[in-house]
Amino acid sequence: MTDYYSILEVQRGAPDDEVKKAYRRLAMKWHPDRNSGSKEAEEKFKDITEAYDVLRDPQKRAMYDRYGEAGLRGGGGASDFHHFDLSEALGVFMRDFGGFGGIDEMFGGARHGGSVRTGADVKVTVQLSLGEVATGVDRTLLLKLLDACDRCEGNGAEPGTQPQTCTTCAGVGEVRRAQRSFFGQFVSVAPCPTCKGEGQVVASPCRKCRGEGRVRAERTIEVKIPAGVASGQYMTLRGVGNAGSRGGALGDVHVVFEVADDPRFERDGEDLYTEVLATYPQLVLGGTIEVPTVDATMTLEIPPATQSGQVFHLRGRGLARVNASGTGDLHVRVQLWTPEDVSSEEHAVLQQLHALRPRVELSSRGKGFWSRMKEALGA
Ligand SMILES: [Zn+2]
Ligand SMILES: [Zn+2]
Repeated sequence: MTDYYSILEVQRGAPDDEVKKAYRRLAMKWHPDRNSGSKEAEEKFKDITEAYDVLRDPQKRAMYDRYGEAGLRGGGGASDFHHFDLSEALGVFMRDFGGFGGIDEMFGGARHGGSVRTGADVKVTVQLSLGEVATGVDRTLLLKLLDACDRCEGNGAEPGTQPQTCTTCAGVGEVRRAQRSFFGQFVSVAPCPTCKGEGQVVASPCRKCRGEGRVRAERTIEVKIPAGVASGQYMTLRGVGNAGSRGGALGDVHVVFEVADDPRFERDGEDLYTEVLATYPQLVLGGTIEVPTVDATMTLEIPPATQSGQVFHLRGRGLARVNASGTGDLHVRVQLWTPEDVSSEEHAVLQQLHALRPRVELSSRGKGFWSRMKEALGA
């Protein structure tokens, strides 16, 4: 014979609130929503709910205490007794613990991800220059979104009236049907048709928001954009987006970054690449050349016999690593500049140079030539 007391793990004679508490605890563990369709959990949930439904009702409990299960079957106003199927068990659970408040409280205050009343997320794109990426920047963003209506304080009901808990779904916003199929019983869940999933119905809608609980508004938010972000990356600001309908929670704001191209640089994460030109005498004799950095310029000392295409690595002159410590490098490729208009004086000197060294002398390659060539070619 089924022992409802041991199923609920309470003593015979346990007071009502203890029975209720025990059921809450067990339902939390065995509710089908929390056990992704486990057959065992379903059975447990049916058993505990049936036990709870008998023990919470003083009349049924008295009959059960005196005659056991037979007492529930025979007469005494409880003659409709039968074992619960899943939809009945879920119905009892909703009846006594239903409504968002009840369930949220029960499931540790965590909102169900897909609550229909949570406001929709908002996406805003922020344009940044590479200079702003280098330093990080504070931005004030103007958002057009939905705010809670001030006339009805967001609940959608005309002041002086209250929204009512939907009777079709007992405020849960979903209707469940346990259906039998060839493979057994399964539960289907659909938004409640009466309240469209909101759990409440408004009999006299607020005149300002027509019962929506929300009105169009503009809101500014401050965003601290860290250094080093890249196009396509985004940050999420929780709970500052659209108001939910009828008092639902605020949605999130996703701030998406779009970094404008800087013609001076190629970017690879935190590393920057740039190209500078040098004259033939600068390459041969060595010297200083101006190199652009994100926010200024700096001078680069190149040694004598620098090859055209040689790359210099300026450590820490790139961009900050986002959400990490350290800074990337600036890679500078030095290229030979060929002037297009030469004066007659230059022409004469170049002819002299040419006469002195009419062709590339492969035999005169110095030590390290190939390694510098390889690097110049990006190998
Ligand atoms: Zn309103
Ligand atoms: Zn409903």
